[in-house]
Amino acid sequence: MLEELRLLIRLQTLDELIKAKEKDKKLIPENLKEIEKNLQASQNKLKSEKERLKQLELKRREKEKYLEELAEKITERKAKLFKVKTNEEYAALLREIEKMKEETSKTEDEVIILLDETEEAQKSIKEIEKQVKEIEELLKKKEKECEELLNKISQEIEELKKERDNILEKLSDDVKRLYEKIKNTRGNAVVRATNQTCMGCFMEIPPQTFLEVKKADKIIQCPFCGRILFFWEEKKEDEEG
Ligand SMILES: [Zn+2]
Repeated sequence: MLEELRLLIRLQTLDELIKAKEKDKKLIPENLKEIEKNLQASQNKLKSEKERLKQLELKRREKEKYLEELAEKITERKAKLFKVKTNEEYAALLREIEKMKEETSKTEDEVIILLDETEEAQKSIKEIEKQVKEIEELLKKKEKECEELLNKISQEIEELKKERDNILEKLSDDVKRLYEKIKNTRGNAVVRATNQTCMGCFMEIPPQTFLEVKKADKIIQCPFCGRILFFWEEKKEDEEG
């Protein structure tokens, strides 16, 4: 086979490999997206749970302040009991004290419920914080793996490009131009000719052209799509051995 044709076939293989590896490189960061999404969700959950805790504590402080006020009022009313002159006034004060005691008991129950809820929120926050930490560690690990993989692929691409440059040095300017031109318009420049058919456009190649392709002593283009052809016949099973 003509050396230039052999080089062109290898050049195309290299271009395909480089293209595939560039595509792999672009896909790598996609692996992190799911983890980043989980992290974001957990961080949001943590934020809202912390806000809930803050509200619970505020509410509890209000209730506790209210309890203090009630206690003061009760003490004050009790002191008044000794100063009243009439039975009616005395009875009215007692009723007031009784009502405030009921209010105190009700508020104390509410404080207990708020305390329970606060404890639950604190527990939940601890769990979510643990979750966030775990996801952060996983993300860090995966980022490192991705980076290593990216470096590896980049290095492989560099090596393929080096080989590509070596081939380009050996090719004439005309052949290089032809290769690039066909590649740019057709996507690939060098294709197999099998069963007298161009594997680029799947048109039947004229017998004379096919013979020339088989001889492989010069560069032959497909008369229909312009791609450079090389002969490659699939071995049939009954022909083997
Ligand atoms: Zn063709």
